Amino acid sequence: MLQNRSVTDIVRSVRRMFGGRPRAAAVLITALLLAAVPLIGSARTASLSSPSAGYVGSATAGGHYDYAGLIHVHTTYSDDATGTYEDLARVAGGQGIRFVVVTDHETLKAIGDGKQGWRNGVLMLTGVENARPEGHLLGMGISNAPNRREVPTTAYLQAVKAQDGLSILAHPAHRKWAWEGPVDERIDGIEILDLADQFYAAPLEAKLAAVAMLPVNRMAGYLELGTKAEPALRIWDRITQQRRFVGLYAADLHQAIELWGEEKMVFPPAEDVMRIARNHIVSAKPFSGEFTADADLVYGAIRAGHLYVAVDVLGDSTGFMFKASNRGGEAWMGDEIRAAPGTRYTVELPESAQRLEAVVRVLRNGIEVARSAAGQRVYQFVDDRPGIYRVEVTTMVPTAFGPDREMTWIYANPIYARDAAV
Ligand SMILES: [Zn+2]
Ligand SMILES: [Zn+2]
Repeated sequence: MLQNRSVTDIVRSVRRMFGGRPRAAAVLITALLLAAVPLIGSARTASLSSPSAGYVGSATAGGHYDYAGLIHVHTTYSDDATGTYEDLARVAGGQGIRFVVVTDHETLKAIGDGKQGWRNGVLMLTGVENARPEGHLLGMGISNAPNRREVPTTAYLQAVKAQDGLSILAHPAHRKWAWEGPVDERIDGIEILDLADQFYAAPLEAKLAAVAMLPVNRMAGYLELGTKAEPALRIWDRITQQRRFVGLYAADLHQAIELWGEEKMVFPPAEDVMRIARNHIVSAKPFSGEFTADADLVYGAIRAGHLYVAVDVLGDSTGFMFKASNRGGEAWMGDEIRAAPGTRYTVELPESAQRLEAVVRVLRNGIEVARSAAGQRVYQFVDDRPGIYRVEVTTMVPTAFGPDREMTWIYANPIYARDAAV
């Protein structure tokens, strides 16, 4: 599956080239490249290993189904984005993505226009992104929303809840649009990783390195920008202490960056964004091909937290699972379990975990309590205590002009081990 050079190999070879004078080389290359920004869009990606290989939607070794998808994507229904439902479905289908939740700004018009449904092997769903005075919210699984800004946020949330829909905090730690307000109990979850936000938040050195790497290999360029969204993770860990609260990945795909005036560049293209990271939902039953049932399957998995976030450009994560069992029963990521003696937590990792020498970090109530050895396919631990348990899988990633750094490859939703008395 991984015959081609991986993106990390490409970065390592560039680093070798500039072994002696990394900073000087980065500055020089960056200066040259900034003069040629329009060429970046044509940079090659062909030599990359494809994370989409093997994404066929068949049952995993564990007997459940694992479907990769994107949430928070913009189309031409937003005036700051390019790309239609048809375009996105075509690209997504070629990348093994099985569902896309489109969330255009303040509009659900696409529903009436018949844009939802199975298209090119991809379940296209319509949600909405709504700018509230406190920040941005995604709404999913709804057919109408009081989009006007004058509507109080509590009334807006009530309208979503009344339709059995989902509300998600979008880019909660964004420099301009951070969520400023209480996290109402009708808000179901949070973006723990927002791709567009990553690009803005990266330090200047990383941005320069990214520009330098883009013409060599676009994926390697993007990788330079990947940072850990610590502020968003802190909010997530805080709320999960109080109640179930799903964490998900937002592509926030626009395919448009403003250059000057009305001029826009189609960047970063959907082909790239769709390879970088995905949500994976896990489900006991497969897609049926029938729209309503399959939409329910996706929204149901998101609501349940049967979801993990993976930076799949580092390695195909399909088949990852985090679950717990004791004599009271079994729980998947996102579920609750009654804390009991001998509660065993199991992390199952895909084949690529070995190549990546991946390490499982166990966090209990937001604090790391254990770490696995590198490159294991199965990691287990026993913990009798109540608590909120989540795992991150990390790997060391090279940078073109600096030292290796630890990146999180997979974020799993928590298992909520409840006190027997509660
Ligand atoms: Zn937004
Ligand atoms: Zn957005």
